[in-house]
Amino acid sequence: MTAMDRRPVFSLSPLSARYPEPELQPEKMGRWVVVQGNFVLVSKGDPPTVILTHYPESSGIDRDGIQYLGMAGAVPFYAAELPAAVPVPEGYCLTGARELYGRCPDEEVALAAYALRIIDYDRSTRFCGRCGKKTRALRTERAKLCTDCNRIVYPRLSPAIIVLIRKGDQILLARSPRFPAGMYSVIAGFVEPGECLEETIHREVSEEVGVEVKNIRYFGSEPWPFPDSLMIGFVVDHAGGEIAIDNKEIEDAGWFCCDTLPPLPSPMSISRALIEAWRRNDL
Ligand SMILES: [Zn+2]
Repeated sequence: MTAMDRRPVFSLSPLSARYPEPELQPEKMGRWVVVQGNFVLVSKGDPPTVILTHYPESSGIDRDGIQYLGMAGAVPFYAAELPAAVPVPEGYCLTGARELYGRCPDEEVALAAYALRIIDYDRSTRFCGRCGKKTRALRTERAKLCTDCNRIVYPRLSPAIIVLIRKGDQILLARSPRFPAGMYSVIAGFVEPGECLEETIHREVSEEVGVEVKNIRYFGSEPWPFPDSLMIGFVVDHAGGEIAIDNKEIEDAGWFCCDTLPPLPSPMSISRALIEAWRRNDL
């Protein structure tokens, strides 16, 4: 499997966010993903599912908060929020989207994360960030329009680079103090305003582990909706310099070969996909 063949766990496909969004006809058709706070409602079956086939009006859902997610063929998908005071319906429980990985098909894990993301976007954009007046949702794209100053707000996306650094038969892996005990991963960091991705790579690698890199090659990308990243993966070669960690973002780093790899990130992440592609000699 090459990078391009890989379907990122959190990609929206096969749902597609087509616009203009269809008229809401909840009684007739549609599929539903229901969230409460930062959790998604999941059936207790085996396997569990996040896709509900009926309009969950009876569960106390606020109709104004319903969000169009996209279309799967001719079927519209919606997200809705169960208010905090409403008990979870019998036969269901609440879970985080990441905890569904491996328990549901990837498409449903992605759908759960997307529903959480879009409900949160709706909650945090009900008022204009510039003038404070109410916004209204546009039906022609995923955006909100301020009813007073006409500012348009789109869902926030935070692009981040993720980069595998090679030196001979070794790769550079590093440990953030936030990682689970013993785990190492590749270098990652957010893109700053005004930067192109190549500049972010050089800056982040230099800041975090003090080495220089060259030969930047694109690997693949992945939505990472926790809460709003787009990870853009690259492979680079070591160009010079010894490892010098910053002791803030990174508490340890080193060069590893195939047979000395430490515990790695979850297989659902692009960082792990990069490392696995290198291990298979696919880069
Ligand atoms: Zn405004």
